[in-house]
Amino acid sequence: MSITALKGFKDILPDEVGLWQLIEATARDIFHRFGFAEIKVPILEKTELFARSIGEATDIVEKEMYSFTDRNGESITMRPEGTAAVLRAFIEHSLHAKLPVQKLYTVGPMFRHERPQKGRLRQFHQLSCEVLGSELPRLDAEVIAMAWLLLNELGISVRLEINSLGCPQCRPRFKETLVQFLADRAGKLCDDCERRRNTNPLRVLDCKSSHCQEQYVAAPSILDHLCPECSGHFAIVKESLSALAIPFRVNSFMVRGLDYYNRTTFELVTDALGAQSAVGAGGRYDGLIEQLGGPPLPGIGFAMGMERLVLLLQQQAGDTSNGPATDLFIAALGEEAQQLAFPLLHGLRRAGLKANMDLEGRSLKSQMKQAGRADAAFTLILGEDEMSRKVAVLRDMSSREQEEIALPTELDPWCQELARRIR
Ligand SMILES: [Zn+2]
Ligand SMILES: [Zn+2]
Repeated sequence: MSITALKGFKDILPDEVGLWQLIEATARDIFHRFGFAEIKVPILEKTELFARSIGEATDIVEKEMYSFTDRNGESITMRPEGTAAVLRAFIEHSLHAKLPVQKLYTVGPMFRHERPQKGRLRQFHQLSCEVLGSELPRLDAEVIAMAWLLLNELGISVRLEINSLGCPQCRPRFKETLVQFLADRAGKLCDDCERRRNTNPLRVLDCKSSHCQEQYVAAPSILDHLCPECSGHFAIVKESLSALAIPFRVNSFMVRGLDYYNRTTFELVTDALGAQSAVGAGGRYDGLIEQLGGPPLPGIGFAMGMERLVLLLQQQAGDTSNGPATDLFIAALGEEAQQLAFPLLHGLRRAGLKANMDLEGRSLKSQMKQAGRADAAFTLILGEDEMSRKVAVLRDMSSREQEEIALPTELDPWCQELARRIR
């Protein structure tokens, strides 16, 4: 029996890779326009890093992490999200000493042991961005605007929902009111909510159970409990988004699944994948750097799920490929033609063309078929008749026009000239 991939782990085949590259290239371009720099961090970290940042009582840390003891007896975890590792690196290398505000992004796989479903895998990929060192509300709007622009340029339409979760000064008062509200409804909530009522009461608000949601219609709103500083901060975030003509809806039930968020949180939501789902989400985490042993610096960040972006692009009509897969296919017939074609192929590749040929020298018909399958824009035919007349036939595969060109006397200039003509 052959071996298959693990459940929830997926190969990304060549057919699909073009979309991944398009998304990554667009993201990098936009992130660089906003002054972000890439950082690459390890996939494995000490388990303690995630317990301390994401929070012990979260779904991720409680049930979803890939954690194991390594050969030295150390507890290690495959990163379930990108922020904690980037902050760990930021602190470890004192990056704040170089620039007052650091804008960092990272791209790569994350791991969570969840029930696999459409657009949700156990190994999934995220674009993850962090801005560290400033609490200015305009920065929140700038970060949201960057995520918004990326989806715009990819042609993906989403709704923006925002909320403020307050700060350590004002959230406890809200928490108290909420815990009291939930205590009054004890026994009427789902098992998860009953448990979270005491461990992590904020999380009950985004419970998926419609029965719970009916109860929560009358729940207290965090926005009525913000301190003047948080309330003023949120007001400027909203004003700044309006100044950029970015439409948003305030959703006071949005709490996010991670403990470290405070003040601004946001989600970019779509209905196009069946149930409502977030394509990207993030928020402010002002105490987190300090909590991880770093300086008391504020931060904000977001992550976007690559799998969901790919699904959304696949649903859209229109060509998202980046030009033909092959610029030029050489069809060489007979040993003499093959001998000429082999260095020619290398010369054309050095001249920058996506070039290919059939090294087995099959029949012309078979080679033309291969050129078609390779999605070649042009074919260069070297037949026996052409070779004897020292010419080759250049065929435009879409217009079917063809012309004879002289065979090279000097390889490199000839290849460069042909590459210029074709591109
Ligand atoms: Zn506050
Ligand atoms: Zn519930």
